[in-house]
Amino acid sequence: MDCVFCKIIAGEIPADIVYHDKEIIAFRDINPQAPLHLIIIPREHIPSLDQMKESDSALVGRMVAIANKLAKDEGVAEKGYRLAFNCGKEGGQLVPHLHMHLLGGRKLSGALG
Ligand code: AMP
Ligand code: ZN
Repeated sequence: MDCVFCKIIAGEIPADIVYHDKEIIAFRDINPQAPLHLIIIPREHIPSLDQMKESDSALVGRMVAIANKLAKDEGVAEKGYRLAFNCGKEGGQLVPHLHMHLLGGRKLSGALG
């Protein structure tokens, strides 16, 4: 499949992976927008938030829980951080594999765009 995140999961392209389990992996963004910028993804190729099924709710909940733990491990939890999903063209989604951004380590502006 021609999906950059599926290729990372398959080990076909390198990534700085900071967490992995049987369902979820997390790695450092290649073009970080903050001192800490991680991408958290399910191993399953769900194209976008819009195509998430209700039965994926627990999986997405685990993505949030893992992000919270990573925020603590990476030392940004106390000062604060942001979790964000981009969905579709106008939502700013470039990679068509469901992913959550974890941003921290600087004062983030109020606007996301
Ligand atoms: P989005 O705009 O929400 O689709 O964000 C996709 C994110 O994936 C961007 O922040 C990219 O910098 C990041 N990204 C794209 N390719 C890679 C890669 N090979 N390794 C790590 N991060 C990547
Ligand atoms: Zn994929």
